[in-house]
Amino acid sequence: MDCCSTNSSLLSLEQALEKLLSQSSAIAQTEQIPLAQAVGRITARPVISPLNVPPFDNSAMDGYAVRLADVTPDAVLPVAGKAFAGQPFQGEWPAGSCIRIMTGAPVPKGTEAVIMQEQAEVLENGVRFTHSPKAGQNVRLAGEDIRQDAEVLPAGSRLGVAQLPILASLGISQVEVYRRLNVALFSTGDELQAVGQPLQDGQIYDTNRFTVRLMLEQIGCNVIDLGIIRDNEQALRQAFHEADAQADVVITSGGVSVGEADYTKQILDELGKIAFWKLAIKPGKPFAFGKLSNALFCGLPGNPVSAAVTFYQLVQPLLMQLSGHSQWQPPRRFKVKTTSSLKKTPGRLDFQRGVLSTGANGQLEVSSTGHQGSHVFTSFSQGDCFIVLERERGAVAAGEWVTVEPFNHLLER
Ligand code: AMP
Ligand code: MG
Repeated sequence: MDCCSTNSSLLSLEQALEKLLSQSSAIAQTEQIPLAQAVGRITARPVISPLNVPPFDNSAMDGYAVRLADVTPDAVLPVAGKAFAGQPFQGEWPAGSCIRIMTGAPVPKGTEAVIMQEQAEVLENGVRFTHSPKAGQNVRLAGEDIRQDAEVLPAGSRLGVAQLPILASLGISQVEVYRRLNVALFSTGDELQAVGQPLQDGQIYDTNRFTVRLMLEQIGCNVIDLGIIRDNEQALRQAFHEADAQADVVITSGGVSVGEADYTKQILDELGKIAFWKLAIKPGKPFAFGKLSNALFCGLPGNPVSAAVTFYQLVQPLLMQLSGHSQWQPPRRFKVKTTSSLKKTPGRLDFQRGVLSTGANGQLEVSSTGHQGSHVFTSFSQGDCFIVLERERGAVAAGEWVTVEPFNHLLER
């Protein structure tokens, strides 16, 4: 099945991505939700700061607020009052005096610098400073971090643990986000059994539905799980209709490889326009994509590693685009040396699974997780990156440079 005789007719990953992404755009519906429920959601419009951060000039140190002209080498400045965080100095500040101030306290009007307490000698009649201050020293200016009306986040940003606290610091309690994508999912195959049920002769457990479901949840989709559908025309037709009616995207696994495809093809032709591709990637050659009467459709190959790789490399970018996550970046790739030799025949872009480690010279290197069969899922559980081997490349010897792509949160250990 993996024969390379028709390599030139295979679709490259870039071509496939092009086709997927050119046929879809972000969903239109948005909703306003409380900040505390917004983790993992995507901003539907830019977030604009309603205020300055910090909101007022304040002290960066525990020390004394001074006017520069008052701090001469032998001057002893009486303390005219106190400014604490949340308790600003009130009242008159006579010339020739200083104000005791704590970190985060608003600096009194007229402050030209704050001298830290380690540079102050406290005497009976006042304070003498051991260092002469520079203008603005230890004063954090209003708006230094974020200016009022500045764009804090562009539209299409994912709200994670690094973003939400900023919104909280601005007092923003509600945020407009894209609604969650509804994704319907089912597995096809007479040989499949649901996890938790005893296996009959010739049956295997349905791993793909579980894998895809988990990845969809990581992405933040609402998952409509339609279970296992038997290789039976009536059952398949009904499942496709049901899925199409409820979801933005329908994802299936199995039944798209040569021989099986004809069967599914007939049903899909009734519902929409679906293309069956042969991808120039390994694992993951067969893949189907198109539009049903309502939803988009992605048909993943049945082999568990192929299903995971095609979901990750093709469906993930599609879902990012549909969910409005325009700031999403494909996982980064870089080059390291491989410590393992790698089997490879020219013709398809390989996504082998590897483990990154730091070598004796302090540089990152990668080793293979071993058996790379498209049914060997342990290659994922033991790996932390893809070793991406160029389409035309042949076998790789230990010590050669290879491109790696660390797993993102969908697959991370
Ligand atoms: P198919 O694409 O349906 O021809 O399936 C290709 C291979 O993947 C066969 O060995 C199937 O038994 C296996 N397979 C299909 N679906 C699943 C699934 N959901 N979980 C685990 N293996 C599967
Ligand atoms: Mg099958």
